[in-house]
Amino acid sequence: MVVETLVEKDRRVLWHPFTQTAHPELLLPVVAAHGATLVLEDGHEIIDGISSWWCNLHGHCHPAIAEAIAEQAVTLDHVLFGGCTHEPAVRLAEELLRILPSNHARIFYSDNGSTAVEVALKMSLQYWSNRGEKRLRILALENAYHGDTFGAMSVGQRGIFTAPFKDLLFDVNHLPSSASADGTARCRELCSTGEVAAFIFEPSVQGAAGMRVWDKEILQSYAEICKSFGVLCIADEVMTGFGRTGPLFASSALSLRPDLVCLSKGLTGGTLPLAVTSCTEEIFSAFVSTDRSKTLFHGHTFTANPIACAAARASLRLTLSSDCVAARERIEKSHSLFALVLAKRSDVENVRVVGTILAFDVPVIRVEGSSADTISLRNKLVGAFVDAGVLLRPLGEVVYLMPPYCIKDDELTCCYEAILSGLDCIVQRQVINEG
Ligand code: PMP
Repeated sequence: MVVETLVEKDRRVLWHPFTQTAHPELLLPVVAAHGATLVLEDGHEIIDGISSWWCNLHGHCHPAIAEAIAEQAVTLDHVLFGGCTHEPAVRLAEELLRILPSNHARIFYSDNGSTAVEVALKMSLQYWSNRGEKRLRILALENAYHGDTFGAMSVGQRGIFTAPFKDLLFDVNHLPSSASADGTARCRELCSTGEVAAFIFEPSVQGAAGMRVWDKEILQSYAEICKSFGVLCIADEVMTGFGRTGPLFASSALSLRPDLVCLSKGLTGGTLPLAVTSCTEEIFSAFVSTDRSKTLFHGHTFTANPIACAAARASLRLTLSSDCVAARERIEKSHSLFALVLAKRSDVENVRVVGTILAFDVPVIRVEGSSADTISLRNKLVGAFVDAGVLLRPLGEVVYLMPPYCIKDDELTCCYEAILSGLDCIVQRQVINEG
């Protein structure tokens, strides 16, 4: 009898995210994980170089988080959050409010980054409606990515991900990402119509757009203009939150405090789905009324799941420890030294380091017209990284490393060596193909 492997079974019954089955991608059977390491079915170990889509902060199966989850799972697993409350939700909210911008007073829970954004958009739009003002326009940034639900897609950059739905997405004004007088003039012009409800942005780094680093001054000037017209500022810190870019929240680099903040990914240290939309008391109070129509009619079955909240509290304790701060600084220093090595190569461009993120462009895998050759070269590059012991998934032409904060120095060296050998491997292949 032929025994099917896990991968074969998977290929028969599953549908993977962002995956075009016509271009078979590497599919890794992962059976266990610890620290920065993923253990494969055949016993091989590879380093999780992208923190499992940017969510794992302290390493896989961290004992402190695992213990908190286990304890909560036998105490109170789940209860509806409409008309009920529980300690993990209340304590986590108190702890988050201590570190969020000082004007924030309320925490609303949901399950993932996209829903955190949906909630922020709905809060902003209904805030104005509850106050009797017609403000229906949203501003966002060029190249933005805020998730895959309809509202989140609407505020994101239009492209191949959103094309099939384009006629159903609401209109949004995307402000330019490069420094230009036109951008600020456009922002002012739009805000002065009095129709703009909110401005949503990924502070410091636009992740899915290819780890694009933002010019702080541009964002600051957009935010200042928005604030001067009362437009609500939404910081989408789903990727940047909890120290990814250096400070605890990337928006703290702005001199203005956002009115709403979206959090997810690292919130539970990458163990369980949970998200937060936090806001000011002023926003919250616009929903407090004897008029029922002013209620925020939004919620999910698993809102404030106690086990996820317990995981988040354990993760937050680790994030705030001096060891974690030191680990993030160590990674940034190490990345900066490796960036000097990369910068000398002629096959990479635009090497950048922000906090624990190292990114660079590889022009040869630029997806021009999604040519099959480029896709196959990209897949070969991913395969070469894995062969060298590291899981990395380029975003288009952008290769990046975003490891868990617990990664050790020798594991970082292994990541850097894997990057160099992967690059060498595609250079060689190109020479062979062209020769
Ligand atoms: N916002 C940002 C900035 C993100 O990077 C992402 C996911 N990459 C999201 C929102 C959506 O999060 P999720 O995948 O959890 O829905």
